[in-house]
Amino acid sequence: MKNIQKILIANRGEIALRILRCCRQLGIKTVAVYSTADREQKHVALADEAVCIGPAQAARSYLNMAAIISAAEVTQADAIHPGYGFLSENADFAESVEKSGFIFIGPRPETIRLMGSKTNAKAAMIAAGVPCVPGSDGVLPDDEQTCIDIAARVGYPVLIKAAAGGGGRGMHVVHSQSELIQKIQLARSEAQAAFRDGSVFMEKYLETPRHIEFQVLSDGQGHAIHLGERDCSMQRRNQKVVEESPAPGITPAQRAEVGGLCVEACKRIGYRGAGTFEFLYEDGRFFFIEMNTRIQVEHPVTEMVTGIDLIREMIQIADGEPLRLRQSDIEMRGHAIECRINAEHPRSFVPSPGEIRKYHAPGGPGIRIDSHCYAGYRVPPHYDSMIGKLIAYGRDRDTALARMSQALAEMVIEGIHVNIPLQRRIMADEVFAQGLHHIHYLEHILAEWSQET
Ligand code: ADP
Repeated sequence: MKNIQKILIANRGEIALRILRCCRQLGIKTVAVYSTADREQKHVALADEAVCIGPAQAARSYLNMAAIISAAEVTQADAIHPGYGFLSENADFAESVEKSGFIFIGPRPETIRLMGSKTNAKAAMIAAGVPCVPGSDGVLPDDEQTCIDIAARVGYPVLIKAAAGGGGRGMHVVHSQSELIQKIQLARSEAQAAFRDGSVFMEKYLETPRHIEFQVLSDGQGHAIHLGERDCSMQRRNQKVVEESPAPGITPAQRAEVGGLCVEACKRIGYRGAGTFEFLYEDGRFFFIEMNTRIQVEHPVTEMVTGIDLIREMIQIADGEPLRLRQSDIEMRGHAIECRINAEHPRSFVPSPGEIRKYHAPGGPGIRIDSHCYAGYRVPPHYDSMIGKLIAYGRDRDTALARMSQALAEMVIEGIHVNIPLQRRIMADEVFAQGLHHIHYLEHILAEWSQET
């Protein structure tokens, strides 16, 4: 590394540990920052230095930009890795990091700002020739009649979405004109409350699409590649539950075509770092919905099938090195599936913080666990309920599935409720086994499951 000898990890949980492990392999020193609720975190114990940045509430610790930047100053870190969630897609944070003289491991602040607005992102993608879900041209105006006209042109059902949205919040399906204005108002007030920006836009509501996304790496110096796609169609309330790579049934020609468009878009906007282009896929066609300008939770499935360490590539790009990988170096081999492990009741989905009393991790060929958990660890109630990811790799999808089922059968987490029983149920599903599910299919599994004893 030329410029990066020490990285401050501005995150917690499994992703903080994942970043720390990568830094160690690269010989880079690490600084952990933690809230008072996270003193027991594994990466805090393993980091070269650790700084407490505030109380349990995220707003006063992991979202406290000034506290994180002063921790970087005190420890003389060179760079800050934001992980996912928290400040990872906050353009103001990226800007203050750079203004304070540190390297932000991610895209330029202007790029984060552009992609943070779904309407601006869509406009940029349309300009780059990437197909998008049909809908309004940018944000909806206040005038009711114009909205009614736009909806009539798009065709019902339509979806109202927050321009600044994220995490699946503030989305409303509208089936007919009679409910349009009321749903727009509802979406506006939700968006205002959640994102301090009430602008909403309209998209055609696709009934049974799959969620397919493309991973890219781009050095911001004119070179970019894609690392194929992931299928994240197994979702509950627009939140991913299971992810896999490659997406079942996607042909090499489709991959090359859509991946190529993403690469061109990266070059056009001068994208720097790792990123994801999210699409909905229906009737053989891809429609762009948004870009994530950070590392994603589900990145391991891509790592397993390509053999590329995405965190390492991110750090090297941030260090200023041109991307050495060529598109021809990327070969997808085998199949990988990831199950998110959440501290929640498997049927009611009520979060279940508390002490993990027993913890037995599965193993064997092709099994990877990204988790910060251990026996005796207390899951704090203040943060997201995801406590780890179980990833299974095999030479083909059936092998990966069989390994995942076996690993889930073997995995024991006691003391709190976890969603492992739900994941076992999903792996046993016939439609999933055939790769024929779509974004609403999990609702069907859940309804069926609730009928069983
Ligand atoms: P967020 O940023 O809040 O996660 P996204 O735009 O990424 O929002 O959409 C999240 C999920 O919502 C998608 O994965 C998909 O399941 C669903 N979704 C989004 N847009 C549409 C659409 N036009 N039609 C049907 N479902 C959609």
